[in-house]
Amino acid sequence: MNADPMINSEVNTKSSDKSLEAMRHFSEQYAKRTGTYFCTESSVTAVVIEGLAKHKDELGAPLCPCRHYEDKEAEVSAAYWNCPCVPMRERKECHCMLFLTSDNEFACERQDISLETIKEVRESMG
Ligand code: SF4
Repeated sequence: MNADPMINSEVNTKSSDKSLEAMRHFSEQYAKRTGTYFCTESSVTAVVIEGLAKHKDELGAPLCPCRHYEDKEAEVSAAYWNCPCVPMRERKECHCMLFLTSDNEFACERQDISLETIKEVRESMG
């Protein structure tokens, strides 16, 4: 973990391997537990997992990466948007398209994604 939040919040920083693997594992387990599926476009899944991992590095919690926050620290404390967020836990609503119900037109049959795939997508996006 980097102690300097200015460095961590830069757009081009990458998540640590430890957090990336933790969030990859969490996503697979949570999809299986809730009977939800990943997106047919694996880059979507990869980008969301990378975003969660970066927040875990920066903030100590996997704050949802698909929203804008005025104050990220306050949002982490509020916990509503810590993944899995309240809408997901209550209604299986994931606006990031990480966890999709089987009736969603973008859902595929996969509940797993490799670290390699995530890193490939990350590299391709610079
Ligand atoms: S919308 Fe909710 S469940 Fe989906 S990635 Fe964001 S925090 Fe996680």
